[in-house]
Amino acid sequence: MNLLVFMLSSKHVIDLPKKVVVGSGVINDIPSIVKELRLGSKALLVSGPNVKVVIGEGVANLLSSNDVDVEVVVVRESTSDVVEDLLGKFSGKGFDFVVGVGGGKVIDVSKYVAARLGIPFISVPTAASHDGIASPFSSIRGLGSVVSIKTRTPVAIVADVDVISKAPKRLLLAGAGDLVGKFTAVLDWVLAHRLKGEYYGSYSASLALLSAKHVINYSELIRGSTLEGVRIVVEGLISSSVAMCIAGSTRPASGSEHLFSHALDVVANYPALHGEQVALGTIMMAYLHGRNWRRLRRTISMLGLPTTAKELGIPDVKVVEALTIAHKIRPERYTILGESGLTWEAAERLARITEVIS
Ligand SMILES: [Zn+2]
Repeated sequence: MNLLVFMLSSKHVIDLPKKVVVGSGVINDIPSIVKELRLGSKALLVSGPNVKVVIGEGVANLLSSNDVDVEVVVVRESTSDVVEDLLGKFSGKGFDFVVGVGGGKVIDVSKYVAARLGIPFISVPTAASHDGIASPFSSIRGLGSVVSIKTRTPVAIVADVDVISKAPKRLLLAGAGDLVGKFTAVLDWVLAHRLKGEYYGSYSASLALLSAKHVINYSELIRGSTLEGVRIVVEGLISSSVAMCIAGSTRPASGSEHLFSHALDVVANYPALHGEQVALGTIMMAYLHGRNWRRLRRTISMLGLPTTAKELGIPDVKVVEALTIAHKIRPERYTILGESGLTWEAAERLARITEVIS
């Protein structure tokens, strides 16, 4: 209802993917999706190193044998230098669409490049490590901000669970960790609505929350890295991305737990995977929100995700430092951390009580 009221009172554009295909062997559907969506006949295919190259080349061959002219490029990092290099090489070359075949970094780079080229983007994730696989946001290092920037919603998402199940298990667990974070993200959104009058979309909030609950309900399947577990994480990540598309911002998917993760990136130079850091942050932010942080901590631990600074591979002091600066990462995003953030003493107490530091 809130969403409807908002839409009636001001302009709110919801840009959704046109096609989402999840399942075994669906990578073979890419040529027919390109035809169905009339994307054109000249593709820029962005892929990553190692095993992803093989998959990327497979997709390139599939497209070539279906009358699509394909240029393949391999990227290793999601940095502004990589992006500018690609734009310098491929701007004005008449590409009709971009296909990103790879993990989070490849998807971030290819989505951003497609938006800058003003052409559609197909997301073909080979790992389920974060919810950028289907969202209209990219995380690019060196663009002056550690938070995601708005790009464009992928026109299609092709998530082949056979391919994704071959990715390292740590990536899948990180994806589950990113989803657990929606618990506190939504609580922060409600708080911002109540205290600041910020727009709150109950539909997109419910959708994001559902993806977190789904992960918790099926944590044993996910931990076992079964095909079904992979599918649950992939569907959760897509749901969370769609929630962002509906909200028109990352609000339903990113709150104080994400601010903490971004702050860790600043103070400890990207020490672990995004979803691992988010999960750790969720335990602490759930405590601040007065929620059952112990149960969340148990589930996160059961999934095999880090629940302490030590397990994350960083000194305790970095957690405390990150907690004290997290509110400054994105000042316009009001969360439980408030406008002035946590003092060193409060941060230390929070991390100690939740057993993140000892
Ligand atoms: Zn995230």
